[in-house]
Amino acid sequence: DQSSVSITVVGASGDLARKKIFPALFALYYEDCLPENFSIFGYARSKMTDAELRNMVSKTLTCRIDKRENCGEKMEQFLKRCFYHSGQYDSKEDFVELDKKLKELEAGRVSNRLFYLSIPPNIFIDAVRCASVSASSANGWTRVIVEKPFGRDSESSAALTRSLKQYLQEDQIFRIDHYLGKELVENLSVLRFSNLIFEPLWSRQYIRNVQFIFSEDFGTEGRGGYFDNYGIIRDIMQNHLLQILALFAMETPVSLDAEDIRNEKVKVLRSMRTLSMDDVVIGQYKSHTKGGITYPAYTDDKTVPKDSLTPTFAGAALFIDNARWDGVPFLMKAGKALHDRRAEIRVQFRHVPGNLYNRNFGTDLDRATNELVIRVQPDEAIYLKINNKVPGLGMRLDRSNLNLLYKARYSKEIPDAYERLLLDAIEGERRLFIRSDELDAAWALFTPLLKELEDKRLIPEYYPYGSRGPVGAHYLAAKHNVKWGDLGVDE
Ligand code: NAP
Repeated sequence: DQSSVSITVVGASGDLARKKIFPALFALYYEDCLPENFSIFGYARSKMTDAELRNMVSKTLTCRIDKRENCGEKMEQFLKRCFYHSGQYDSKEDFVELDKKLKELEAGRVSNRLFYLSIPPNIFIDAVRCASVSASSANGWTRVIVEKPFGRDSESSAALTRSLKQYLQEDQIFRIDHYLGKELVENLSVLRFSNLIFEPLWSRQYIRNVQFIFSEDFGTEGRGGYFDNYGIIRDIMQNHLLQILALFAMETPVSLDAEDIRNEKVKVLRSMRTLSMDDVVIGQYKSHTKGGITYPAYTDDKTVPKDSLTPTFAGAALFIDNARWDGVPFLMKAGKALHDRRAEIRVQFRHVPGNLYNRNFGTDLDRATNELVIRVQPDEAIYLKINNKVPGLGMRLDRSNLNLLYKARYSKEIPDAYERLLLDAIEGERRLFIRSDELDAAWALFTPLLKELEDKRLIPEYYPYGSRGPVGAHYLAAKHNVKWGDLGVDE
């Protein structure tokens, strides 16, 4: 093979690199997904030798349960392909040195280079400038993976895009949203477009509302410094949940090509109503004592200012003003320090018109609504709530689940989102990365609201650590005639 691929992890000493990027690269190596001639470089300011990097990386590598064979041997081989270069993020000279090392390893082959920017946003542009000027490939491709945050509002995001485009073409920029790499998010389109029973129902005619729910059962735990500057709306809603919404609601793309899919996503985002405070609830967790244990308030976190009003919870109702979705509320809810950990999509269908069995449901017809749940994490599953006759004499109805639980159906361990995304970036597949017009459209929806929250210093509703979040979220849902599906009796 006459070509080579090198992957440079910029910020290799950091948390994300250790926890996600190196383990994902190893998993790809183990699965024989990396090209024959590949090498991996760690780049950061910390002083480290190759051996020290290998030692650091080796501690985070794991083998899948179903692939324990030769694991140790594979790790050894993988680590031999890992190197380290210490340098400043704003030094062209340091990147020239990196370039020399890369060239040595490339040994005259066509050179393809991927840079993964796993560094704080304030140094993105420096690193992009130096990498592109001093360490771009001379005869192959050069691509850059950028991590969120992509700015903090329309203006700063546009400024970031402008700066990136001074050094890179749009097709070199891979904006990562790791939710798009999750198995069940990828499966959304398969479910919808390759099963006759779903797509015909996918509209205002049959769907009453759609809910996107993200919850974590822990708070910032001493690492709130970054979060405090962004808040849950920027951290989860404007990107992860909105991306899933766009995939969920888009029209059928012309093909599965990246541009065709991203064109449809942009259309949905641009058809959405800009968010206003009327359709948003914000919350912040407060201290709570349960079973003799006191859980801290958000502002007890030492890295968070005592008077912080940053939301750790938000609920929102969004609307897509197009023919398919006119009037259907798309509800989002995201929060930290809640009672459980989950990410899911819930689709609540309309009541059956003139249902012969209505009297079997008593007064609560909502109990009889079909609901499709796509559980993204944990315990990936797709289940459909249906009404069913309880076996026996007489006529008693029951709500049951048609249940596809992944771990029961598939024995394979599900790859981490970062594996899929890294592989796609290496292969030049852009479908799961965010194009700049998508990003602009996403910020346009949220920026006025974020500005209002901050300008008026609006006070969040306080909710106890470990609870189901602020009551305001129920009122918001009720205003749109919706009940949150995750709070139902049979959850
Ligand atoms: P991090 O550990 O704070 O930073 C990565 C590396 O950047 C550090 O090891 C440090 O390396 C260098 N660095 C840190 N602060 C710096 C500063 N002020 N000036 C110059 N260099 C600095 O970050 P991370 O958690 O790995 O995350 C990396 C990127 O991914 C960030 O943009 C973050 O927002 C994003 N992200 C992270 C996660 C996650 O799970 N951690 C999830 C999603 C997105 P040296 O000192 O050795 O140079």
